[in-house]
Amino acid sequence: MKLHGIISAVCAAALLACSAVFPGAANATAPYKDSIEVEKIEFQREDFIRGMDVSSVISLENAGVTFKTETGETGDIFKILSDSGVNYIRVRVWNDPYDSSGNGYGGGNSDLDKAKQIGRRAAQNGMKLLVDFHYSDFWADPSKQKEPKAWAGISAAQKRTRLYNYTLNSLQELRTAGADIGMVQIGNETTSGIAGAYTNSERAALYKKGAEAVRAFDSSVKVALHFTDPQNTSTMQWFADYLAQYNVDYDVFATSYYPCWHGSLSNLTAVLNYVADTYGKETMVAETSYPYTLEDTDGHGNTISYWNNNSGDNMLWDFTPQGQADEVRAVMNAVNNVHRGKGLGVFYWEGAWITVGDITGKSGSAYTAQWNSNHLLWEQYGCGWASSYSADYDPDDAGQYYGGSAVDNQAFFDAQGRALPSLRVFRNVCAGSVTDTVLTGDADRDGRVCVNDITAIQRLLAEVEPLSPQGLLAADADRDGTVTVFDITAIQRFLTEYDDPYSINAYY
Ligand code: CA
Repeated sequence: MKLHGIISAVCAAALLACSAVFPGAANATAPYKDSIEVEKIEFQREDFIRGMDVSSVISLENAGVTFKTETGETGDIFKILSDSGVNYIRVRVWNDPYDSSGNGYGGGNSDLDKAKQIGRRAAQNGMKLLVDFHYSDFWADPSKQKEPKAWAGISAAQKRTRLYNYTLNSLQELRTAGADIGMVQIGNETTSGIAGAYTNSERAALYKKGAEAVRAFDSSVKVALHFTDPQNTSTMQWFADYLAQYNVDYDVFATSYYPCWHGSLSNLTAVLNYVADTYGKETMVAETSYPYTLEDTDGHGNTISYWNNNSGDNMLWDFTPQGQADEVRAVMNAVNNVHRGKGLGVFYWEGAWITVGDITGKSGSAYTAQWNSNHLLWEQYGCGWASSYSADYDPDDAGQYYGGSAVDNQAFFDAQGRALPSLRVFRNVCAGSVTDTVLTGDADRDGRVCVNDITAIQRLLAEVEPLSPQGLLAADADRDGTVTVFDITAIQRFLTEYDDPYSINAYY
């Protein structure tokens, strides 16, 4: 994912121009249905990866963010993800994302220590780890493949040795820390190069040394290579041919798939089929994501917003939790359609990168105060896409346009850290979701909204009788995260205004 350039410039301009008036802020609690419907996928392989990248999560927790289940109970996000059907975790690793004074560049300050914590907690909850080495000190993507500071100026041969040793040592440390490593990426979105190497021969040599290190670590761990732009069919085919021509050893050909940039899903399947049919390789989508809303919640503009990237031939789904779930299912289906079970799986990118402080509904001095508070946390904990300290390494982009999360509207958690119903897609693609619904307002869970639900909430508030977890979720009719007398008011209003009590669900 590219998190820089014009997108950041637009958001910075927007912040300067209109800090007091944020579009939609007054009505920013986007209504959505509690229930989502997901059609089951008949997977070709039992080990199909339903994965998620949560690389920024430790920095968010350090900044005070907590995560909650859909019913509002605080818990370990790795357990919440596992309980929701996520079966694999991806984590990026930067060599040294700090300036000479030890200040983090941001983007989660995603060093090996963070990866160890993520790997250990993933394993404790039954999930394998995909280690995504960027071989850089900060973001590596199609436009940036800068080598780590410590590798600057060394010879090509030295760089190959450094990459081998760094890969092997890091994997050993991750395993010692408790990670269950299943796959390793040699580079991230290496469409234009890797670790400051741009010629075909030198890039191939680095891929090979990385693969060699992974094989030395554990021959059962898969080696993945990662590219972008599947919409350029011939370019993707060129990469597969190139890797074969240079005898690069790998198992998995991976691509990013973002619908606003990366073409149709049928083309994605066709591109992956070329690799699977021609070279017998496994294929996967290493990154995808989709917004559940166009609202921003942290005061840093998003990659997909009211102004950016919200239209196009392949932005096919609603900007709702249902639409987000639909996108995930559709991408999984496209990969599952790859011939002979060579579609290995899909990773959702940064599905938990939420705000450190909700700006929703705030304007004027209240907005400014919240933004300043968020800014301090981004700087101190590195939980935004980049901090001002990144100027040390990336002066022209991150050093200019640093700030918060550009994808908080593409997470599976709302601004309070509560799981969205769309998170269920990771389980429901396996089982379908016919009965997995919650009708907003239906506190007593009898399938309809009526005065009995008001009674049930009154008994809850009077501490006469508790509600079930699903009943509590349904009772939060105004979706503010708590059950209060205002939910009774909301239900009374709906019952008064609408003859059909079932129609209440249409408003959420
Ligand atoms: Ca944002």
